[in-house]
Amino acid sequence: MDFFDLKTQQAKIKTLLDQSYNSILKHGKFIKGPEVGELECLLCEYTGATYAVACANGTDALQLALMALDLKPGDEIITTDFTFFATAEVILLLGLKPVLVDIDPETYNIDVASIESKITEKTKVIMPVSLYGQCSDMNEINSIAAKHNLVVVEDAAQSFGASYKGKKSCNVSKIATTSFFPTKPLACYGDGGMVFTSDSDLHQKIRRLASHGAAKKYHHEDVGINSRLDTLQAGVLLAKMTIFKDEVEQRSDVGERYSKALSNHCKTPVVKSDRTSVYAQYTIEVDNRESFQQKLKEKNIPTFIHYPTPLHQQPVLQKMKMAHTDLVNSLNASQKVISLPMHPYLDKETQDKVIQAVQECL
Ligand SMILES: *Cc1c(COP(=O)(O)O)cnc(C)c1O
Repeated sequence: MDFFDLKTQQAKIKTLLDQSYNSILKHGKFIKGPEVGELECLLCEYTGATYAVACANGTDALQLALMALDLKPGDEIITTDFTFFATAEVILLLGLKPVLVDIDPETYNIDVASIESKITEKTKVIMPVSLYGQCSDMNEINSIAAKHNLVVVEDAAQSFGASYKGKKSCNVSKIATTSFFPTKPLACYGDGGMVFTSDSDLHQKIRRLASHGAAKKYHHEDVGINSRLDTLQAGVLLAKMTIFKDEVEQRSDVGERYSKALSNHCKTPVVKSDRTSVYAQYTIEVDNRESFQQKLKEKNIPTFIHYPTPLHQQPVLQKMKMAHTDLVNSLNASQKVISLPMHPYLDKETQDKVIQAVQECL
């Protein structure tokens, strides 16, 4: 059994992939080829955001978003304690200060009730992460941001395709970023990322920053970075978008079926009624995680831990002696969460094997 299944998907779009590769090999514009712009347009249409800038990966996308905001060293960015390290990494790389907030234990996303008490004179940005494929309480976060004149950047690396009150993730904040890493909900065959915004000035700045700070060739207005999505990867993503809507539905079907069978046995994902999840991960909570994982392994059920260490306990953040207290829900989640096999092509028979094994091992 596979945790992810990229082979079934590949077989479904094989003809399109071949056509796309052949056409790109023929025109030879491997960087900034027409497929990149086409993909940006398609994903704007899909998300509803006005502008999209393709870049090299999801981490760069986050970095570009923050670089576009003219922040000063020491400015504070409020984010969640429970996320992949990249979220905090870009903050630290830019000389900014991550201010970590605990999570809502139901959704694993930033606890909105804990945000306002962390806002200081130096706070400039709130960066919620749409963890496991579900948006945070974006209306509440956007209201807090508006009240305190802050910018909201959604780290939507795991939630492309999810919706929040009828709008799509990547279009529910001032700026949003996503990743096309091979195991994300929308993924290419290598690295890729994208930044979304509906603000024209920010869009121009982000595009410039991704291209060495130059809007015109050899005319550099800012110190930027070199961050591009290869044309071949854009071609892969265009092919994958032809089946993406179906895949989002299939993910949702798998997630709901898992939950129906498991919610009486352990803590299963809570998807709030005003939003959908793309189940980038299907993550449950168990006590005695280590032995549970081992028992599943013996039954050939692959699992992963997303994530075993909350940000505030990462060695690099501890070394920096950032004072962090009251992050109990995040710490608790890090000790109990475990993700089960999840992909759009997980058939019912395989789902049942996972379900039965989980029930037996609890
Ligand atoms: C995957 C991920 C990233 C980084 O994306 P890359 O494309 O691997 O750089 C950032 N934030 C979160 C929450 C992620 O899951």
